[in-house]
Amino acid sequence: MLRRAAETGRRVRPIGSGHSFTAIGAPVDVQLRLDRLDRVLRADLTTGVVTVGAGTTLRALNHTLASLGLALTNLGDIDAQTVAGAISTGTHGTGATYGGLATQVVGLELALPDGTLLTCSATQHPDVLAAARVGLGALGVVTAVSLQCVPAFGLHAREAGSTLDAVLERFDDDCARTDHVEFYWFPHTDRVLTKHNTRVGTDDLHPLSRRRAWWDDDLLSNTVFGAVVAAGRRVPGLVRPLARVSASALGDREFSDLSHRVFASERRVRFEEMEYAVPREHGLDVLRELVAAVGRSRWRIAVPVEVRVAAADDVPLSTAEGRDTLYVAVHVAPGSPDRAAYFATLEAIAADVGGRPHWGKLHSLDAATLRERYPRFEEVVALRDRLDPDRVLGNDHLSHVLGP
Ligand SMILES: Cc1cc2nc3c(=O)[nH]c(=O)nc-3n(C[C@H](O)[C@H](O)[C@H](O)COP(=O)(O)OP(=O)(O)OC[C@H]3O[C@@H](n4cnc5c(N)ncnc54)[C@H](O)[C@@H]3O)c2cc1C
Repeated sequence: MLRRAAETGRRVRPIGSGHSFTAIGAPVDVQLRLDRLDRVLRADLTTGVVTVGAGTTLRALNHTLASLGLALTNLGDIDAQTVAGAISTGTHGTGATYGGLATQVVGLELALPDGTLLTCSATQHPDVLAAARVGLGALGVVTAVSLQCVPAFGLHAREAGSTLDAVLERFDDDCARTDHVEFYWFPHTDRVLTKHNTRVGTDDLHPLSRRRAWWDDDLLSNTVFGAVVAAGRRVPGLVRPLARVSASALGDREFSDLSHRVFASERRVRFEEMEYAVPREHGLDVLRELVAAVGRSRWRIAVPVEVRVAAADDVPLSTAEGRDTLYVAVHVAPGSPDRAAYFATLEAIAADVGGRPHWGKLHSLDAATLRERYPRFEEVVALRDRLDPDRVLGNDHLSHVLGP
């Protein structure tokens, strides 16, 4: 397909589950779906390295890994993405000593724009492997991904309501003491929902009952929250009072389960999202500035702000490249009149500390600015020039963020 496209001057864009908020995967001429590359191809139970078809969803992969007694060491908060789509934009979860999904990649098979297949590993084309782990779909079509997995583990989850001041005060200690920490701040309130997940064995797990899981995750987190957001869209004056309702609806709970069942949950409420990665040491100041800006504004923000952390990594276009990172993610209901001002405010605050936007979430930065935010940007651009000189894989969004 790539060869034919190159010969006829057409452009090809691979797509995963289509869960990015930007037009990064938008096709110009041909959209290439890889959803039949949907299974584990090889699993080495001695080393824990598992090779999987690029179009496999994280959900399907997690199930297969669990049946093999393995797991991914960290995940984001949903599992609907494909493996290739998730790594290509730098999808991450939380954990001060853990990296995003791309840091778990030890090998890739790439279909290059000239139609040849390239196998990359630590010993074969390591420069391509390094960059293509977060390759934005600009360096080749990923057909298979080898992931370094770990023995299956459980997570003990502790979720609790708190106040913003209390959470900020102890955040660094919490991150040092607990494996995976995140919190949600409900704008227009001082309320926060914290999530602390601690890694445990798999022998003595206490999952939520089906009824409690339905009540918390389906009814409160999706149905009731969806109704609150919808009511706020119809009657904007309700957003601020309803924010207090949302903030108090999610009660404290403690449970343990296999890691992937705790990391990922279902999200059925539609929203639009921007997320900035900032140096960890400036992270809480960025958040405090954002909180102050919301306080000064007349915006009505119905969806919480999510705060997560990650360890520094060595992936050239990873948002955590070279620095311990704190992520601030802002969300609005689709069509919110406050989106532009709210998102621009986060961009301006993050710019002061060299913030890097998530590649799959909304932002306004172009190649000239991104080049300054990523020390290894030129390395990737040079590789793109070498692997896809005719921009068979190009689209307008890539021209904007990587250059023409
Ligand atoms: C509800 C929701 C929750 C989310 N939660 C998180 C989170 O917790 N953490 C986080 O970091 N992000 C999160 N995201 C963002 C999401 O993980 C990323 O946008 C991810 O890239 C989506 O994966 P996908 O399979 O849908 O890829 P797509 O959006 O379909 O594609 C993304 C990019 O990957 C490229 N691509 C796809 N397949 C291939 C391939 N085979 N070869 C080469 N390139 C390819 C596409 O061309 C495109 O550039 C969330 C998004 C949503 C909607």
